[in-house]
Amino acid sequence: MRVAIAGAGLAGLTCAKYLADQGHTPIIFEARNVLGGKIAAWKDEDGDWYETGLHIFFGAYPNMLQLFQELGIQDRLQWKSHSMIFNQPEEPGTYSRFDFPDLPAPINGVAAILKNNDMLTIPEKISFGIGLIPAMLRGQKYVEECDSMSWSEWLRTQNIPERVNDEVFIAMSKALNFINPDEISSTVLLTALNRFLQEKNGSKMAFLDGAPPERLCQPIVEHIKSLGGEVHMNSPLRKINLNEDSSVKSFTISSTDSGVTEEITADAYVSALPVDLFKLLIPKGWESIDSFRKLDGLRGVPVINIHMWFDKKLTDIDHLLFSRSPLLSVYADMSITCKEYEDPKRSMLELVFAPAKDWIHRKDEDIIEATMKELEKLFPTHFTGENKTNLRKYKVVKTPLSVYKSVPGCQKLRPDQETCISNFFLAGDYTMQRYLASMEGAVLSGKLCADKVNKSKARLLESKKQDVLKPDQ
Ligand SMILES: Cc1cc2nc3c(=O)[nH]c(=O)nc-3n(C[C@H](O)[C@H](O)[C@H](O)COP(=O)(O)OP(=O)(O)OC[C@H]3O[C@@H](n4cnc5c(N)ncnc54)[C@H](O)[C@@H]3O)c2cc1C
Repeated sequence: MRVAIAGAGLAGLTCAKYLADQGHTPIIFEARNVLGGKIAAWKDEDGDWYETGLHIFFGAYPNMLQLFQELGIQDRLQWKSHSMIFNQPEEPGTYSRFDFPDLPAPINGVAAILKNNDMLTIPEKISFGIGLIPAMLRGQKYVEECDSMSWSEWLRTQNIPERVNDEVFIAMSKALNFINPDEISSTVLLTALNRFLQEKNGSKMAFLDGAPPERLCQPIVEHIKSLGGEVHMNSPLRKINLNEDSSVKSFTISSTDSGVTEEITADAYVSALPVDLFKLLIPKGWESIDSFRKLDGLRGVPVINIHMWFDKKLTDIDHLLFSRSPLLSVYADMSITCKEYEDPKRSMLELVFAPAKDWIHRKDEDIIEATMKELEKLFPTHFTGENKTNLRKYKVVKTPLSVYKSVPGCQKLRPDQETCISNFFLAGDYTMQRYLASMEGAVLSGKLCADKVNKSKARLLESKKQDVLKPDQ
């Protein structure tokens, strides 16, 4: 079957890869000149990479890890020690670590928490442990029910002290969805904790060894092409055209290179667009359909990714760091953590600035100035004195509508990959799968979408045959 897919983010690429593996011919149309969507990256005038986001791969990403295996690129993941490292705001320049010993889950997680005495007191650890019992005993059903509450509300219902939030979960909530615990759905944190505590290597982290478009997306494209698929860049989907029965008749694709607009027909059609952009293309004839109407409740959250190149080394930590700063979320010295960005003498910090709603429209210079003030607290000895570290250059990448904002009540709004339109399917991290808005979620959504297209093969081919037999309308 010929399947037209709009969007070459991880969801669209994965969907095409698995369709091609099943003998179909996927044809991807990507609006931009860069692969990867939210994992896209570019080179600056000096040849240094800058990215849409600092991206971490977790041990609890089975579909992503399988994809790396299948592409034969698993050596491109640079695994770090099994730890979580937090800055200590009250003692600037120091860190507090959760180190997971090489023991089965959940013993390794419990040991990591018990051994850390900087952040939580024993009574706080006990009350948090008791609070988690329902999630551990009742599993995913309980986790889904908790989507009615924000994480802060959930902590209160479990009688867990507010300080636990301040110490650990503001940082985790910002890392997972770029918002604070008062806003984030408790389902998000409980899902992550469940994976981290139930799988031995669930919270183990890896960095890709270079820029995602080249090191991860390109191999997927080569695989797709080797099986007869096509990937067209600079080719945005402009319109979804419908048949009388509301099924898709064609995609209108316009090339931003040649200016040519074409009607593309296929046996099945997939939107792998972000939810905010898909909503703009929903045809009039579908607007009353419940599953499409519900998408109004899903909206991307703003986030800013910052790159700062310094003239000296700021740290020797080869890991992700949770800043616990009011303006920043996680950060890493990419000159250490990522092979292609390696610099033995000078640091390049990549930092996620979140929550970003009050900053997304501010000038880059203001954002950098505010970030420098935060860095002076994180590295108190580096930015003073005669031998102080200087900022060489910076790059700020703003994403006003990034992953959907996971506030309470979102779970019931997320659509299935199969829609009520017979030849139209959805892929994307916002569609329903258990890994929420993440790279693993995007990959799983693409895989589920490909399976659903494949399973509908007989129906799709039959309706195509009927279309051909119909006289011209
Ligand atoms: C700052 C930041 C940090 C992140 N950190 C992590 C992390 O550490 N770990 C993790 O797991 N996840 C992380 N994520 C989330 C992760 O990047 C996303 O969940 C995932 O990449 C989404 O993939 P997707 O394919 O669903 O959507 P997208 O990546 O948004 O792909 C959609 C594609 O559709 C294209 N498109 C849009 N309009 C059209 C059109 N009209 N026609 C054709 N194509 C179109 C876009 O250009 C894009 O290529 C982070 C995200 C951000 C922004």
